[in-house]
Amino acid sequence: MPKPRILIIEDEPDIREILQYSLEREGFEVAVATDGLAGLQAVRKKAPDLLMLDLMLPGIDGLEICRRLKGDPTTAGIPVVMVTAKGDEADIVLGLGLGADDYVPKPFSPKEVVARVRAVLRRSDGARGEDTTRVVTHGDLTIDPNRHKVFLGDDEVNLTATEFRILQHLAGRPGRVFDRDQILAAAVGPNTVVTDRSVDVHIRAIRKKLGDRRDLVETVRGIGYRFAE
Ligand code: CA
Repeated sequence: MPKPRILIIEDEPDIREILQYSLEREGFEVAVATDGLAGLQAVRKKAPDLLMLDLMLPGIDGLEICRRLKGDPTTAGIPVVMVTAKGDEADIVLGLGLGADDYVPKPFSPKEVVARVRAVLRRSDGARGEDTTRVVTHGDLTIDPNRHKVFLGDDEVNLTATEFRILQHLAGRPGRVFDRDQILAAAVGPNTVVTDRSVDVHIRAIRKKLGDRRDLVETVRGIGYRFAE
């Protein structure tokens, strides 16, 4: 199997080197670009399997790169992991809305970076065969879209249609963070009228019904929610 190819777009030499070293040591093939324009050209020349994207870049910034890549069908499928600074919550939410897959906040440990990269690559492999009728299981939790039912062991968990869609959306992509707008969009189904537009209220209700498995739905402070990995 060929090595997964990662492109790092990062202007700070120290961070670029740590990323490159950590990923190469784990067997990834790594290419680097030091500014936004060079990064975009590198993607167009040879599409990487995953892009590590700094947000604060000279020239074209990270969010703009993300917007351009996700808006172009030939590059939209490339997973993007944003490299973010502390206090970047608003930009993280924007980036996720633009289609970025995940983010690593600075300062990060090399171990954390490698774990996030592996998780995103795994998810993007899985997403190719994605099927909304797939039964999702996590420990004793079973989400069955065909029957529109959720079980904890043998016990059925009675969710509303909106709660079901939110849980299915989160659980279908464990570890991925969704902001409230994305969760709301997922909650609006063909036969669902969302009367209460507060995602937090739905999440609270889902957690309550999950009882001691409530921790499966994690809060990501300042950003949104994710299902435990
Ligand atoms: Ca930077």
